[in-house]
Amino acid sequence: MESNKKEKSKLEIKSELISNDLSDLLGTLILILLIAGICGYVGYIYSKDNNLSISHGIIFGILFPLGVGLLELFDLNNFFCFILYTIVYIAIVNFIPTFVGGIILFLLILIFMIDYIYIEEKDRTEEINNIIAKNNIVSNKSYNYNTDVKEVYDKSDEYLTSSEPKIMEEEFECEMCFKKISEEEYETYDGMCEDCFMNVHIDDDGNYHDEEIF
Ligand SMILES: [Zn+2]
Repeated sequence: MESNKKEKSKLEIKSELISNDLSDLLGTLILILLIAGICGYVGYIYSKDNNLSISHGIIFGILFPLGVGLLELFDLNNFFCFILYTIVYIAIVNFIPTFVGGIILFLLILIFMIDYIYIEEKDRTEEINNIIAKNNIVSNKSYNYNTDVKEVYDKSDEYLTSSEPKIMEEEFECEMCFKKISEEEYETYDGMCEDCFMNVHIDDDGNYHDEEIF
């Protein structure tokens, strides 16, 4: 029963991840189609006005913004690269046969289709586990809060009923693994034991991060 529930929420998380990725892809696709349409039209007008091959004008008009997209993909999205790309593109575009442009266009469409398949088929076990672990930590924290409040309440009750006042002994435990720790450790490591604190804040390369790493 419990594991069924877990499996169900895993599936829900998975479909959520897929739909997020797909809507990202769809957004990019619409933007690219729009820009490619405009550039294709510009190519059409240009080649018509200058008595050049119309199909050449359309195909290379469409290819120009797709090339900009590739620069983006390779993180070359600065102004210098864009200018250089534009100059090179204009310089060589008339020397590239139309069919070569057609092949490049086909390949770029293929890349998008592969991207779509990748989103559907990608192994998301690690991503899902990370999200579940995150959720667990949140619920553990609220659980701890409730038991702490209850403990204090019980202790104050004891204190009131006993004839001799008891010295309240404070116990500290790690909020991640519930190991008993000293007050000093609790204060130093943000409510965690030293090991959990290191796991949360130090990455594989040994660098400290203020934010939690999962
Ligand atoms: Zn711990």
